[in-house]
Amino acid sequence: MIIIVCLLLIVAGIAYFVWKYPNLRKAWFFLPRKGLVALMYHHIKEEPSNNPADYAFAIAPDVFEQQLDFLHKNGFTPISAEQLFHAQKTGHKHVQKPVLLTFDDATLDHYTHLFPLLKKHNVPALIFIITDFVGKPGYMTWDQIREMQQSGLVEFGSHTCSHRRLRDLSEKEIIREVTESKQVIEDNLQQPARTFCYPFGAGAFDKHVRPHVLAAGYLADFSTKHGINSWPWRGKKPLLRAFPRGRETWWDFHLEITRGRSRL
Ligand SMILES: [Zn+2]
Repeated sequence: MIIIVCLLLIVAGIAYFVWKYPNLRKAWFFLPRKGLVALMYHHIKEEPSNNPADYAFAIAPDVFEQQLDFLHKNGFTPISAEQLFHAQKTGHKHVQKPVLLTFDDATLDHYTHLFPLLKKHNVPALIFIITDFVGKPGYMTWDQIREMQQSGLVEFGSHTCSHRRLRDLSEKEIIREVTESKQVIEDNLQQPARTFCYPFGAGAFDKHVRPHVLAAGYLADFSTKHGINSWPWRGKKPLLRAFPRGRETWWDFHLEITRGRSRL
């Protein structure tokens, strides 16, 4: 009788736990997978307004720093774009639990809030520039971008010239967005722009757009679809990225970092 009561209590306890944490139910079916996780961040700035559209795209600096600590303590290795390409070329996978930190839009807070944290923790990052927006209010200047580049921690890629949805543009405009932005970055940084990030979410590009990106000479393209990438990344498809956002739980972050899964 006591054994039956104990078993019932254990079953009830597990049922309560699974009910209370819905993410656990999903996690139950998806065992952690091995591969490269790329994280997609936007703003790193102090607590934004209560508007979900605002705070979803902003992580407070102290939370971001806790995430860096979490990665460090749990054996993840933030990798640079150089390491991404090196692994692709050589097939070596000697990096343990690789994570690629990416930041879209090259906003001013990347210089004021993100850069000090990258230096403090010696963590590499990839930032995507909208070339027409450089120097405008809220965005970095070329001098600030160069300073970050010269630290050796940050590589810059293109996020187009004007941040429009490429799928909706004419072929001529798509080619201009991908080639001109690459040229402008290379002229200003004296270094190849090797990476490209599609603006506006998973539906922002299609099979007609990607060939233009590859033809322009980019070696890697980044989507907003979430998931785990192969490691070494093989380059056959755009890289998938999980999306940490403001006010999410640690469990959400755990799912992003172990399974590339984000709640979109
Ligand atoms: Zn963007």
